[in-house]
Amino acid sequence: MKNNNGYFGAWGGAFIPEVLYETFRELNQAFEEAKNDPAFRREYIELMGNYSCRPTPLTRADNLSDHFGGARIFIKREDLNHTGAHKANNVMGQGLLVKRMGKRRVIAETGAGQHGVATATMAARFGFDCTIYMGEEDVMRQRPNVFWMEKLGAEVVPVKSGSRTLKDAINEAFRDWVASMDDTHYVLGTVCGPHPFPEMVAWFQSIIGIEAKKQIVEQFGKLPKRIYACVGGGSNAMGIFQGFLDQASVELIGVEAGGHGLDSGRHAARLASDDGSPGVAQGYKTMFLQDDDGQMADTHSVAAGLDYVGVSPILTDLWEKKRIRFAAATDTEVMAALDLTMKKEGIIPALESAHAFVQAFRETGDMSPNEAIIINMSGRGDKDIFTIAHAFNDPSWKKFIRDKGREYESE
Ligand SMILES: *Cc1c(COP(=O)(O)O)cnc(C)c1O
Repeated sequence: MKNNNGYFGAWGGAFIPEVLYETFRELNQAFEEAKNDPAFRREYIELMGNYSCRPTPLTRADNLSDHFGGARIFIKREDLNHTGAHKANNVMGQGLLVKRMGKRRVIAETGAGQHGVATATMAARFGFDCTIYMGEEDVMRQRPNVFWMEKLGAEVVPVKSGSRTLKDAINEAFRDWVASMDDTHYVLGTVCGPHPFPEMVAWFQSIIGIEAKKQIVEQFGKLPKRIYACVGGGSNAMGIFQGFLDQASVELIGVEAGGHGLDSGRHAARLASDDGSPGVAQGYKTMFLQDDDGQMADTHSVAAGLDYVGVSPILTDLWEKKRIRFAAATDTEVMAALDLTMKKEGIIPALESAHAFVQAFRETGDMSPNEAIIINMSGRGDKDIFTIAHAFNDPSWKKFIRDKGREYESE
């Protein structure tokens, strides 16, 4: 990854209030030193092995492969991380960095609550104080996650301003940080936000791609033809893609939330649709879903983790350079892919991850059994039980899932 002062091509940067300059300078320096210290990487690998089941397996999905009769399908199992998703890779890494900087408190914002739970877990493990900002609306929608954050020792602050959702929580967390930066670190959850966060989070998540490259060569004897990953902010995608960015023969495909369809206006496809446009918000420059006045649009996805207006500046750069291709999967397609994966492999992907499965299923039949593809399964679907139950009880969804299943059958 070529990083020029936090810019990836024309994207990224650090658009921050002046009061935070010194904090960001300190963070940049701490990260640069840690990155160049082999002992730090070793400590990180050791921690992830001992606390979070790494290396996660690369599972051969023979039943799905036989079903489609095309490329051999492999699934990278980020669901087997502690707390059930790739988010652990990032928060534990930042935890080690906080310890190195000598700070004692962490704060974070969370929408659906997954990043909040991961951060609260890390704080408990390292003995940090922890405050999680969450829109009041989200606090009501995500009771179980709020419960666990509190039980893990974090303070959850419901944010009552604005639309009482994620973007208001982000503002509130930044307000806290300005007042507390001497002893507090802000744990950003994905490869977005001001420099150095995109690069730093990508560096921790690269553990996925480094493992996957070694595993696929061991198990299949050569590199895969294609790699699929869902894209919210972009951290699990950047994580796996980094293992293969230099291999031009490996095609990289990012899958965004198609929501109700790209024509519906109710989606979160910043790069796969024509609705995204360049902008600067939340401290960085990227393609946003926004109106003509630069007001952030209301996005929609059945998967809370993909329901976000911005996208990693690193991915936007690689998209612009045509190194990564982008696609979208709709809410209903996601349910059909989930259904098939559960029945064929006994694996329950998170709704977010299932987006990557949809695009892989669309394309794998055209490929040869001498080729392999990897689907990055960013997390497990247990958290989505009520959403999935609701979808499978809805008659129109049921029909779609049945029809889609037949379509898959005939491919
Ligand atoms: C948070 C989350 C995502 C989206 O985040 P990225 O930064 O795009 O990876 C995807 N999948 C799962 C399971 C998540 O919890």
